Amino acid sequence: MRQLLDEAAKGGYGVGAFNVNDMEQIQAIMAAAKQTKSPVIVQASRGARAFAEDLYLFKLIQAAAELNPEIPIAMHQDHGNSFETCKSAIELGYTSVMMDGSLKEDGKTPASFEENVAVTKRVVDFAHERGVTVEGEIGVLGGVEDGHGAGGSGLEHVTNPDQAVEFAELTGVDALAIAIGTSHGAYKFSKKPDGSVLKMDVLIAIHKRLPNTHLVMHGSSSVPKDLQDIINKYGGKLKETWGVPVEEIQLGIRNGVRKVNVDTDNRLAMTGAIRKVLWESPEKFDPRDYLKPAREAMQKVVAQRMTQFGQAGHAGDYKAVSIAAIAKGYKDGSLSTKPLVAAK
Ligand SMILES: [Zn+2]
Repeated sequence: MRQLLDEAAKGGYGVGAFNVNDMEQIQAIMAAAKQTKSPVIVQASRGARAFAEDLYLFKLIQAAAELNPEIPIAMHQDHGNSFETCKSAIELGYTSVMMDGSLKEDGKTPASFEENVAVTKRVVDFAHERGVTVEGEIGVLGGVEDGHGAGGSGLEHVTNPDQAVEFAELTGVDALAIAIGTSHGAYKFSKKPDGSVLKMDVLIAIHKRLPNTHLVMHGSSSVPKDLQDIINKYGGKLKETWGVPVEEIQLGIRNGVRKVNVDTDNRLAMTGAIRKVLWESPEKFDPRDYLKPAREAMQKVVAQRMTQFGQAGHAGDYKAVSIAAIAKGYKDGSLSTKPLVAAK
């Protein structure tokens, strides 16, 4: 993933990181990447690894990589809760891990700054030796997803820019997730977000202090109304809700955001497509009758995000290097892990 993010920084674009749990979602992402010629980050949460079983999921992603040699692809552990979780992902063959030390190992209780630094640094040392990229998190996101999260609004633990600088310096992470008011899940904002609930000014302040650090936006589904409407039209009961507008993500990308996590939008697209088939054709019972439209609906959303984030057209810009070469880069210092820090 380090190479994907370095290339994205060079090209001034963001890369969507899409969550996967099953074959249809992986196929939807790869079809969208092929369609738009995009490099791509595929990520699995702990919940996904448990749902699909590690080996099934890993082999599916290996198949995706083999079938699409022209697409640079990173396999990322989303929200690792402990050193052991990250270690197991690395040993399985993931090329990138997130150590979310903003929370304690239970994935719910906010951790102290010192605890976060200690566990993240431990993962960085283990991962870099093996050429694997590390994303850390400073500040705490709102909401809960797959049983992970502190809950509450995204405004309770917004990242402090000075602490972000200190964290990047102490840990040597490759990418830094920050909390700017976003939450996981579908219910992010109760109205179209403005500066009072979505702290883009904090993101910009962090980018000014850490101009070369790859920033990560979590909870960045846009939760579009048309996808909510399809679900509700065919028997669903979603409450009205707002996500992160694409324009705000694009503002983030102009200010150092290189990885954009999207999950909810894909969940909405698939569920809407499945509901439509079952509602309109209650006599159908072949899973392919609804999984195929679900896969197509997700491909459409992913392709749209890839275009909006600017990664479209960049798959052929570079050839993926091996993780052995990345490991060597960390060792000889050609891949820097010391952030450039600008004065206040
Ligand atoms: Zn997240």
